[in-house]
Amino acid sequence: MTLLEFAEKTSPVPLTAWQRDFLTMYEQAVRDGTKLICMPGRIDRRMMTKDIVNQYYSSKPIEVYCQGTKKIGIPCRRYLGKVEGKAELLCPICKTVNVVENGKVTVKEREDTKHGN
Ligand SMILES: [Zn+2]
Repeated sequence: MTLLEFAEKTSPVPLTAWQRDFLTMYEQAVRDGTKLICMPGRIDRRMMTKDIVNQYYSSKPIEVYCQGTKKIGIPCRRYLGKVEGKAELLCPICKTVNVVENGKVTVKEREDTKHGN
C-alpha cells in the first residue's frame, strides 16, 4: 500500500489535489532519502496530512541506509537494517548516528565530526 492509498483510506474527508500531490512527492522523497521541505496548503489540512504521514510511516518498518558521509566526502549509504517507529542507529563504517522518526532518516550532528559546508 502506498502512502497515498493509505491516506485515502484513513482520511475522514476526501483528499484535496494538493494533498494527493504532496503525499506522492513525500513518499518519493522518503524513498530517495531526500527531504521535502515544502508543505503547502491550509493549516488544518497540513496538520491532518502530517498525522496521516506519521501514522503511515510509524506503522511500517523502513529500510535504513546510512545518511552519513565518509572521510573522502562520498555518501556512505551502508545498510543499517529495518526499523519500525523511532530509533537511533550508529553506522559502523562512518560512525554517523542515524535518527529514524516517522519514516525519515536524519543525521545526528556530533560535535567532534562537525565540518563546515
Ligand atoms: Zn555510514
